[in-house]
Amino acid sequence: MIKLSKSVITDNEKKAVMDVLDREYLGMGQDVLQFEEMLTEYFGRPATCVVNGTAALHLACQAAGIGSGDEVLVQSLTYVASFQAISATGARPVACGVDPVTLTLDLKDAEKRVTSNTKAVMPVHYAGGVGDIDGIYEFAKRHQLRVIEDAAHAFGAEYNGKKVGGFGDVACFSFDGIKNITSGEGGCIVTDDENILKKIKDARLLGVEKDTEKRFQGERSWDFNVSYQGWRYHMSNIMAAIGIEQFKKISSISEKRRQLALYYNNRLSQVKNVRYLPLDYTSVVPHIYVIEIMSSKYRDELREHLMNKGIQTGVHYQPNHLLDMFKCEADKNLLITENISSRILSLPLHTELSFDEVDYICDSLLEAL
Ligand SMILES: *Cc1c(COP(=O)(O)O)cnc(C)c1O
Repeated sequence: MIKLSKSVITDNEKKAVMDVLDREYLGMGQDVLQFEEMLTEYFGRPATCVVNGTAALHLACQAAGIGSGDEVLVQSLTYVASFQAISATGARPVACGVDPVTLTLDLKDAEKRVTSNTKAVMPVHYAGGVGDIDGIYEFAKRHQLRVIEDAAHAFGAEYNGKKVGGFGDVACFSFDGIKNITSGEGGCIVTDDENILKKIKDARLLGVEKDTEKRFQGERSWDFNVSYQGWRYHMSNIMAAIGIEQFKKISSISEKRRQLALYYNNRLSQVKNVRYLPLDYTSVVPHIYVIEIMSSKYRDELREHLMNKGIQTGVHYQPNHLLDMFKCEADKNLLITENISSRILSLPLHTELSFDEVDYICDSLLEAL
């Protein structure tokens, strides 16, 4: 079976985890500090590690003052994590459409859904592409909105020569098992907003004031105050140890993912009734490789056919506005999203995938079309 995605773990990660286990300090301590320092240097501004990407988004929203009665604009075509992170604050995720070419937020559609309750916009960097990010910041400025970037797909990517996450308001990354780099589970928030930084540092440790500093010294707070809703969202040393080793390999990981995507592009460029995302792989590191089939009927037949050939595929994503939890009378007219969702297909992409396997996948796809 050719997997859609997978973690790729070497002896380096195993040894790093064993070192943490040998030291017998498993929680949040020096490894997390080191990982944060590496990420901070990489982004050129502070990175704060948490237990997963959803927690990063939730904390970022909370620290930006988003809560009950507020609305956050977000594309419906995203992982349910984006929606759950918003609703966890008490705010309502307002489902928006996507640009049919890039599958990132459609600003014209988002514009129509702005109300006096709108507090933020959460662009999702679908497959690693940032879409019209300049347009998003211009839109946010015009409506006085915070921008919480769901950059879960975009670790390693650049835009205009800057690291994604290295500019803008707040960016949240995921290091779950199948993301561009992993720390087992994990994520981080990147921002230079002092107010947000202070809040997330406490809020990831149940709101215990200044506990971060204590834990980085191998201690903990006994005499403390709490003035803010917090959560158990910190990262452990075990996770950070994996993350550090993965981070060291970011350039070879990026290179392999890009080469695979370009190889797919090359194989599929002449194929009728199939299109791939127009991403620039000199700056984007693809997290998923998505194709769009011209008919929804074919999509499901194709999935079936590929499965029978031992090839796993995925659908990123089913629209969130169709899920019971997020159904809302106000969120209508998302036909483009619904239509695209029924026709997209994600093909295998991970750093252990070989070019021969990509050939086999493309051959199998072609014989079914
Ligand atoms: C993976 C992902 C998340 C959440 O990250 P976790 O670490 O799995 O919690 C959020 N948004 C998108 C688009 C993702 O792909």
